[in-house]
Amino acid sequence: MSEVIEKPPVALKSAPLAADGALVDPFGRRISYLRVSVTDRCDLRCVYCMPERMEFLPRKEVLSLEELERLIRAFMRHGVRKVRLTGGEPLVRKGVFTLIDNLGDAARRGDLDEVTLTTNGTLLAENAARLSDAGVKRINLSLDTLDPDRFQRITRRRKLDDVLKGIDAAQKEGLAIKLNTVAMKQENASEIPTMIEWAHGRGIDLTLIEIMPLGEVDQDRMDQYLPLTQVREDLDRRWTLSPIGLRTGGPARYVRVEETGGKLGFISPLTNNFCDDCNRVRLTCTGQLYMCLGQDDNADFRSVMRSGADDAALDRAIAAAITRKPKGHDFAIRERGAAPAVSRRMSATGG
Ligand code: SAM
Ligand code: SF4
Repeated sequence: MSEVIEKPPVALKSAPLAADGALVDPFGRRISYLRVSVTDRCDLRCVYCMPERMEFLPRKEVLSLEELERLIRAFMRHGVRKVRLTGGEPLVRKGVFTLIDNLGDAARRGDLDEVTLTTNGTLLAENAARLSDAGVKRINLSLDTLDPDRFQRITRRRKLDDVLKGIDAAQKEGLAIKLNTVAMKQENASEIPTMIEWAHGRGIDLTLIEIMPLGEVDQDRMDQYLPLTQVREDLDRRWTLSPIGLRTGGPARYVRVEETGGKLGFISPLTNNFCDDCNRVRLTCTGQLYMCLGQDDNADFRSVMRSGADDAALDRAIAAAITRKPKGHDFAIRERGAAPAVSRRMSATGG
């Protein structure tokens, strides 16, 4: 849904609550979207996301599903209307459907506009019907290639078939899918047009994502990074790309590919900084709230909750955290061997 946001020229110093109780950050942006990483664990090891040998968090550090739901409901009291569950891989978290079902009920009652998730799709075949029953209407699915060997190189696991079965099952259940495809210089650059044609041919929109320097991985980011400006130039030569004025409060900018009839998004935090209408904050599975994906500042809600805070104290902590939302990120991939812009991985913050 498009959203027009009137921004004041300078940061406001006032309390971050609008008259209707909604959260407004120091730059006048209403925060209506919460992304929640329900686990840091994953059954894949994508080369841009994690090293092969990952040390996952001890369970006691991870919020219980009840704690996560309590926090999500606190944000809902302050005008959050959309919740996206992500990870790690959200479908590997045991019992996650308790949370999904409860949020689906909240959406049915009109307390949320949408509950959705971002998944790698490996467990979708067995879960698509359950998601649909819970009231999930659309999902984002991450897929970077249709080639089994390339899939194995990128994810370090041989599971492309499971993902494709998951896509079939989800579409059979009537779930709308958006594909997220990370553009990689050495892997899928040449396959991007084929992916777009394949997705659009199935009625699936696709968004290309630029690699972000989040956390240490086993490869140099310079070898992975493919600027989307370059991809866009190639696609412009091949097809007619008509800009669509669709703004979702997120980083993606959309075009329609006239020849395929499908929508194509570009998330290019490095070649284009689109933070001006950012409407979201991100909660990790350990209860840290990140006000910006590209900054290290965070607010620790696990200690607030585990120290016995009542709902009023939780509400105050949320309002205080939103005053710290920065204007934007400062990602860059400029030189070989450079340290990541932020030390945590996307799987910790939830992409
Ligand atoms: N496991 C789920 C999945 O892959 O869809 C959800 C979590 S994953 C961290 C969310 C998204 O982040 C995926 O689309 C993934 O491709 C993207 N991602 C992970 N690390 C990234 C990075 N360093 N730069 C850009 N995108 C990244
Ligand atoms: Fe797992 Fe998603 Fe990270 Fe790939 S991008 S390793 S599927 S969390």
